[in-house]
Amino acid sequence: MRIGIDLGGTKIEAIAIDGSTVLLRRRIPAPRGDYAATIAAVRDLVAAIERELAATGTVGIGIPGAISPVTGLVKNANSTWLIGHAIDRDLERALQRPVRVTNDANCFALSEAIDGSGAGANTVFGVILGTGTGGGVVVNGRVLEGRHRIAGEWGHNPLPWPNEGERPGPVCYCGQTGCIETFLSGPGLSATYAAESTRHASAVDIASLAEAGDSQAAGALEIYEGRLARALASIINVLDPDVIVLGGGLSNIARLYERVPPLVEPFVFSDSADTPIVPARHGDSSGVRGAAWLWP
Ligand SMILES: [Zn+2]
Repeated sequence: MRIGIDLGGTKIEAIAIDGSTVLLRRRIPAPRGDYAATIAAVRDLVAAIERELAATGTVGIGIPGAISPVTGLVKNANSTWLIGHAIDRDLERALQRPVRVTNDANCFALSEAIDGSGAGANTVFGVILGTGTGGGVVVNGRVLEGRHRIAGEWGHNPLPWPNEGERPGPVCYCGQTGCIETFLSGPGLSATYAAESTRHASAVDIASLAEAGDSQAAGALEIYEGRLARALASIINVLDPDVIVLGGGLSNIARLYERVPPLVEPFVFSDSADTPIVPARHGDSSGVRGAAWLWP
């Protein structure tokens, strides 16, 4: 049995699987701001699952960040109470077994590569388009972690082939300007719509407005699609994945799958460019499923 845990900012999700069969799912609120309570919550969750199923399992965990290979401590986490802690060692102590911990976007990519929209592909680039812009790379069924454990983190590269209006671009929390995340996250799309219309709406509402015939919402989405296409083209030029799988809230915008691929092609250094860009099969469950699959 494999147990996967997704440590989110607002909730902790758990899954127990046997092969591709889901045995059990759990979801509890995250103890926001409290690291010790987070470790205890994961320990209790695993204990409860194992009691209920009368079996022990391997444990994989997805976190909104990465463990620095230099310090062994969590970095880059928007759940800031995890930052600076040796979460893998603390969880191993609490759970009395080895655990595998990786970034939640890596878990997403792994889940989709194993038995999701990227099943059967050698190289999968998984993209999260949500409050942030994460990414993960899976090659031959294994997460590519990278020397600094940041492989696939495309969100803090600059938006490629920018036009005049996109330079220098918005200031990003990472310290740079014009990062892909500032344009392609949900807040990025909202900012584009606000600039077009002087109205404020969430990314999901903008998609509904566009569908209902709001020309400014449609215009904002058109700008978004062009930017997404350029950003994905730069990934294709480096990694040339067999498939790109989109997850996160904005991946539910159906028109992206029709409109973005033809916009990608002119920026790809190849005589043809037909990389499939597809929605995630497992939706919100991909993170927790991928965490379970961290143990092969
Ligand atoms: Zn940035």
